Amino acid sequence: MNDILLLKQGELILKGQNRRIFEQRLVANIKRRLATIGEFRVYAMQSTVYVEPRGDADMDAAFEAMQKVFGVVAVSRARGCEKDKDAIVRTAIEYLDEAMRNAESFKVESKRADKSFPMTSIQLSQYVGGELADAFPGTRVDVRDPELTVHVEIRDHAAYVHAPPAPGAGGMPVGCNGSAVTLLSGGIDSPVSSYMIAKRGIHLIPVHFFSFPYTSMQAKEKVLSLARILTSWCGRMTVEVVPFTHIQEEIRKNCPEEYFTIIMRRFMMRIAEKIAYYNGCGALVTGENLGQVASQTMEAMMVTESVCTLPVLRPCIGLDKDEIVRAARKIGTFETSILPYEDCCTVFTPRHPRTRPKLADVVAAEAALDVDALVEEAFNGIERVRLP
Ligand code: ATP
Ligand code: MG
Repeated sequence: MNDILLLKQGELILKGQNRRIFEQRLVANIKRRLATIGEFRVYAMQSTVYVEPRGDADMDAAFEAMQKVFGVVAVSRARGCEKDKDAIVRTAIEYLDEAMRNAESFKVESKRADKSFPMTSIQLSQYVGGELADAFPGTRVDVRDPELTVHVEIRDHAAYVHAPPAPGAGGMPVGCNGSAVTLLSGGIDSPVSSYMIAKRGIHLIPVHFFSFPYTSMQAKEKVLSLARILTSWCGRMTVEVVPFTHIQEEIRKNCPEEYFTIIMRRFMMRIAEKIAYYNGCGALVTGENLGQVASQTMEAMMVTESVCTLPVLRPCIGLDKDEIVRAARKIGTFETSILPYEDCCTVFTPRHPRTRPKLADVVAAEAALDVDALVEEAFNGIERVRLP
């Protein structure tokens, strides 16, 4: 008999039509995530999504993948057995051995989808509870406030004993709240900001500005590796790699050095917004963090975002660096982010950047450039990389 997975849906405040859309999206996302692991039957019932393997499947891999699906708050694995009260007891004793030894108190809760089962739910709970209490004398029954709840379920083709739930990723199913463009550099912050926005149900289009040969092919590969790691949370994505070399050279040739970074960032925002409108996205996402560098003061952010009309979401804005690092470790991007490849921002860094730039001065400095033509040229040179 195969194990199955049970995923508890999150954000239960959602009601009516929204709730249905949320659930359909969640089931579709789960199916897509499982497609590379094996064949599964996936369906939702009463705020739970059931994942049942058809034939042999790597259930460890499936369990791990399901812990990264946004919209799921808890994941438990259940062991199947014959629909017989003593088979259920034997399965529970073996399968829950460790959990039962560690729990001070427990209770059994049973559910019958198959009403032809000869005991009621209450009778079954009492029977299994009694047998478990005998088998594990170190723990006691407490029906009011048990440390461990043992779930038993009688389904059509088998009975199931659930293991204690592991935490899910939380958030909302990717795609149920629209799409956004995320500016993905090779650093620590932007993968974290991408993760945080995807978690709120947003499908992401990562955009990377690439300045070959000032930045190497490895630098681009690093960003694609980061995006690949993010797909295990965010689902499939198409990375847009924007050729940025000509723009940077033009800025260096024609603009005062103290404004290099801020003008470059204004170009990034313009191009990102063009990609966003092209793809029906509702916002831009960056990994900016207040006060971290000269281009991330309030004044600099105002100058940067004044070139676009879409909201700029900056989920890392108020975090300390160690909080961002902790998040990066948790989502698995940190080790890749600290690989030593240069980013386009570091190539033309001014020696003395303006920390409190004035918009009018920046606009005047930019007047030396044919902004529209440069944006158009970069946009037309985009390389798209589909992941996975
Ligand atoms: P990160 O760790 O994300 O690189 P950072 O602290 O190094 O952030 P900056 O390099 O100043 O910050 O960039 C701020 C934000 O601008 C980044 O978080 C990212 O969203 C965006 N960004 C910077 N460089 C690039 C790039 N080459 N391609 C795409 N986005 C970029
Ligand atoms: Mg960076």
